[in-house]
Amino acid sequence: MKSMKRKSKTPAKESKLSNSELCKAIKKKSNIEDARIISPSDVETAVWVRLKCQFGCGGYGRSLVCPPYTPTAQQTREVLDSYSRAVLIHFTEEAQVTATIVELERDFFLRGAWKVFGIGAGSCSLCKECNLEKQQCQNPHHARPAMEACGIDVFSTVKKAGFPIEVVRTKSQCPNFYGLILVD
Ligand code: SF4
Repeated sequence: MKSMKRKSKTPAKESKLSNSELCKAIKKKSNIEDARIISPSDVETAVWVRLKCQFGCGGYGRSLVCPPYTPTAQQTREVLDSYSRAVLIHFTEEAQVTATIVELERDFFLRGAWKVFGIGAGSCSLCKECNLEKQQCQNPHHARPAMEACGIDVFSTVKKAGFPIEVVRTKSQCPNFYGLILVD
């Protein structure tokens, strides 16, 4: 991990977990490229994001971590506004993004951050077939929605935090992946 900079002034008042403890736990994960503590108010949500899922992504409606089963942009905004501290995490490999976010979520929870919730990247392939019929996740401890699936404008959010992101035009381009952990 290259650096761990605090992006904005949002001291954690509720959680027992300090910023340095957060940084220490994140640094232990070798697949994390970089991470920044940010204010959830700096996370951008937009209603158009769902259109990109619905008309442009083959994952739409195919798993419970994707729309239309995930929170709308408005619902996500309300959730974000109920937190005062988040960590935005940069990966350069998609594999293990959500798994790593879930591991950190559990770690932070056990250290006293009872509100912690992780938001990953990509769809879910934990089950052979997603339990769409009953709309009940069979692996709730490990499945998490992606940021875009919750109406988060990932491009604007990561650019605002100073992270790299570009439209991927060719197979030779190195893509960037991001996860978000709402901590408090
Ligand atoms: S864990 Fe299984 S049931 Fe849950 S979202 Fe993933 S594929 Fe669907």
